[in-house]
Amino acid sequence: AKPDWLARAIARAGVLPQDEAQAAIEAGRVTVNGRVVKQHLAPVPPGATVRVDGAPLPTEAPTRVLAFHKPAELLTSTVGQHRVGTVYEVLLPQLPPDLARFTWHAVGRLDRGTTGLLLFTNDEKLLAHVTSPDTRLPKRYVATVFSEADEEKVEPLRQGMTLEEGDRLRPAQVQLRDAHTVEVTVTEGRNHQVKRMLGAVGLPVRALHREAVGGVRLDVAEGTFRLLTDAEVSEGL
Ligand code: URA
Repeated sequence: AKPDWLARAIARAGVLPQDEAQAAIEAGRVTVNGRVVKQHLAPVPPGATVRVDGAPLPTEAPTRVLAFHKPAELLTSTVGQHRVGTVYEVLLPQLPPDLARFTWHAVGRLDRGTTGLLLFTNDEKLLAHVTSPDTRLPKRYVATVFSEADEEKVEPLRQGMTLEEGDRLRPAQVQLRDAHTVEVTVTEGRNHQVKRMLGAVGLPVRALHREAVGGVRLDVAEGTFRLLTDAEVSEGL
């Protein structure tokens, strides 16, 4: 692993947000291996002891996961920047101070226009685990389609289809809720995957909503979030 720079190491440990960490460093409140360091871009050698106001950084920040209900109009960007029009613009101002101090990462993406469950975490290992296709975590979507769906049309999704780019997909679980509403559960997360799968069988998607990721179900109002419990994280993801 590359050495982190000092302000970032403090932010990652969940002690202060990066801008406040930078200010603390410049104010001489931070030591690395016992010596005051005033450059926030100073690299932190592996194994170094960093102290802020005399207190060592916790070696690992606790893993936190948020379940957010994404509204249609927002974009998912993966780095937690407070940018206009992204999920962060709506999520970050709602976070209480004990959560606002972390750097948040969206766990995968939902297209602009897609609504539903979008997880966020401060733990990059968990992020990698949940988004890896090897984990095979099921993601359940409900698609509203323009044409009438029937069992015959959706059968290729269950068999495992090959998309136009030659991407071979794993078999998906599909249930017809009614003629225009199709539930699709996939264990991968390719770009626009569900829309491409349904589009390929003549069922272009009008609206897409994610109801669940692993054992975590969407249960908050649009535009709001909930902190998952440690048990939900360890059992559901
Ligand atoms: N599949 C899509 O097509 N879009 C999403 O946002 C998620 C899955």
